Amino acid sequence: MARSRSANSFILSNEGQVDGMRLTVLVDDSKNPLRPELRAKHGLSMFIELRTGKRGMSLLMDAGQSADIVLRNAERLGVDLAGVGAILLSHGHYDHTGGLLGILRHIGKTTPVIAHPNALEQKFTFRRRRLKKIGIPFEASEIERSNGMLSLSRDPRRLSPETWLSGEIERVVPFEEVKGFKARRQGKLVDDQIPDDQALFVNLKGKGLVAITGCAHAGLINTVVQGLKVTGSEVVHAIIGGFHLIDASVARIRTTVRELQRIDPRVVMPCHCTGRKAIGKLVEAFGEKCRQLRTGDGVTF
Ligand SMILES: [Zn+2]
Ligand SMILES: [Zn+2]
Repeated sequence: MARSRSANSFILSNEGQVDGMRLTVLVDDSKNPLRPELRAKHGLSMFIELRTGKRGMSLLMDAGQSADIVLRNAERLGVDLAGVGAILLSHGHYDHTGGLLGILRHIGKTTPVIAHPNALEQKFTFRRRRLKKIGIPFEASEIERSNGMLSLSRDPRRLSPETWLSGEIERVVPFEEVKGFKARRQGKLVDDQIPDDQALFVNLKGKGLVAITGCAHAGLINTVVQGLKVTGSEVVHAIIGGFHLIDASVARIRTTVRELQRIDPRVVMPCHCTGRKAIGKLVEAFGEKCRQLRTGDGVTF
């Protein structure tokens, strides 16, 4: 990947496993933030700190819909975004990218912004039979002008010996279909399978894979399968993030839960676009191992 002074902190160790990590939800949809002074809004942004020995790095996964809410919540949660080593964009939808420019300006120094090339294309969905824009709400050139060092790739990206951005997620299970999204490619409006959808994978020492999703448009099971493949991990410790089951059929939710039970993660933490119905089924299946995350929540492994 492109490197700068701020990217040097990427290399933690040669051991290939992270000793510990902490994830803080800076913004999420749920209407009851952890504390009353925090604000929730449709979208997602997570601050992730990783530690190996005495070394550490922090990453921002997604930028929420608007910078003012992410920055305000971060300040109230005591999260210092100035030290962020890179900003990862899970995909190109506005609710994960809208806050990017404001956050970059707040950081105020050159910061890598890592994404899949399709994240930058014009994206749409249908709302009340009308085409609605749901892509990144600004030009790519504005990212560079705001000190973002754009770095685009379809391949899995090793951010440190123990941390990967997934790369384009292979669609291996038949029931995780992507429907209802469009993109403009070479001037034509086409069905969008959201190839830009990526997850963050961490190989946690003594525990296994931690998979962190933005919306998991590629499918939650596809994402976890890719995580095991990319990291070489055999055990799934935690699955965290938006699972995009909000519009899914009962059959798909049921199959997803069944497959997850087979994968047997120790912790399942849905938020954002997972949907109430799916969260209910996950709690039913995983009991205390499943906890919904909301704005302000922190998770330490
Ligand atoms: Zn999305
Ligand atoms: Zn989303």
